[in-house]
Amino acid sequence: MTHPPPSSTAQDVLKAADARRLILDSLSPVTGGERVELHAALGRVLAQDVIAPLDVPMHDNSAMDGYAVRAEDLDSGAGSETRLTVVGSALAGHPFAGRLRPGEAVRIMTGAVIPDGADTVVMQEIVRREDDRIFIPAGQQKGRNLRRAGEDLAAGSVALPAGRRCGPAELGLIASLGIGEVAVRRRLRVAFFSTGDELTPIGQPLKPGAIHDSNRHTLAGALARLGCELLDLGIVPDRPAALEAAFAEAAGTADVVITSGGVSVGDADFIRELMARMGEVSFWKLAIKPGRPMAFGRIGDAVLFGLPGNPVATMVSFYQFVQDALLSLMGVTPLPPAARFAARADFALRKPAGRVEYLRGRLLRDGAALGVTLAGAQGSGMLHSMSEADCFIVLPEDCTSVQAGDTVFIQPFHGLV
Ligand code: AMP
Ligand code: MG
Repeated sequence: MTHPPPSSTAQDVLKAADARRLILDSLSPVTGGERVELHAALGRVLAQDVIAPLDVPMHDNSAMDGYAVRAEDLDSGAGSETRLTVVGSALAGHPFAGRLRPGEAVRIMTGAVIPDGADTVVMQEIVRREDDRIFIPAGQQKGRNLRRAGEDLAAGSVALPAGRRCGPAELGLIASLGIGEVAVRRRLRVAFFSTGDELTPIGQPLKPGAIHDSNRHTLAGALARLGCELLDLGIVPDRPAALEAAFAEAAGTADVVITSGGVSVGDADFIRELMARMGEVSFWKLAIKPGRPMAFGRIGDAVLFGLPGNPVATMVSFYQFVQDALLSLMGVTPLPPAARFAARADFALRKPAGRVEYLRGRLLRDGAALGVTLAGAQGSGMLHSMSEADCFIVLPEDCTSVQAGDTVFIQPFHGLV
């Protein structure tokens, strides 16, 4: 293989936003797809628009429990009640068979088809009933309390666009159209491994100075949540031949290769040299904390993310740079904007200008407002506070201090859908 010399080894300090843009601009979605049954579509990305084959709802139907009437029968404003005769009932799934004639009403329940001839539903709470007669106060408006055929979706319209990732709402919407199978993009294949002579798998005794490998498990969890196909290549020691074999296997089988460890300056430098030799890889010094070093590029046809080894740095780098890249490769379009909410800080700290800091935060109820506190010690290896946290507090480059009561921006870890 011949490759251009890696301009990449130049130690550029990159702003977080620039790194994100460089990454996203260089990626296009993987090709290929499959058809899956609806229940298997959760988390998958639609490969084609889903077109509504029918109107949703199919019929004009009632939005209330009440009486279906003809507006022209009602008193239009003189102030007196209207008396109508109840000639039948319409329930959801059991339409009224006949046609409403002048002076008639049909008892109707929510979701029931509006009978022929009726154009208005009067809610039951304002109607007085005596046997088969009802009395409706003056002042009703024509067309009230109806859901119109096609008001949610008209037949032939795009119900869901290609590029939409299916969540519970999408599954329900597709089902409401009577569609049982959808075309989705194929899953993204992601190979990942941990690098470091100190790393020990669970179940093996720790030699002096050794630690358990946690990053691979964190990454496996994050990747599984995205619906990726996982290729776990285990722990690879800081040995050139082993690393070269791992990179070759990963790049030969996966769309994306994610490693952790070994990308810091002065770390086992041959990992960087090896990545650069095997592909086109840039080594970035990002203006962020935690997670300063990161490698990004390609080995063969695979996209490579070399993440720093410190466990929280691995997670921050994953969520701030890798996750959107994976969504983009999966074909998600448009990418959802990063959720950012203002919250009132209940802590104080100083920070240098020039880098973005991602602190682990815990949301607080602060009256009607949102407050946030620090979720414990913030060392870049301390996963415990990552687990205690439910948000990142994102302090921008120009911020140099936070006082209690200041507004800060947070990114929640969990959303509703
Ligand atoms: P490195 O990026 O290889 O210089 O590693 C930075 C720090 O992260 C060191 O303390 C490593 O021991 C630690 N580290 C690297 N990889 C892992 C891993 N997979 N699990 C837990 N800690 C790790
Ligand atoms: Mg290392």
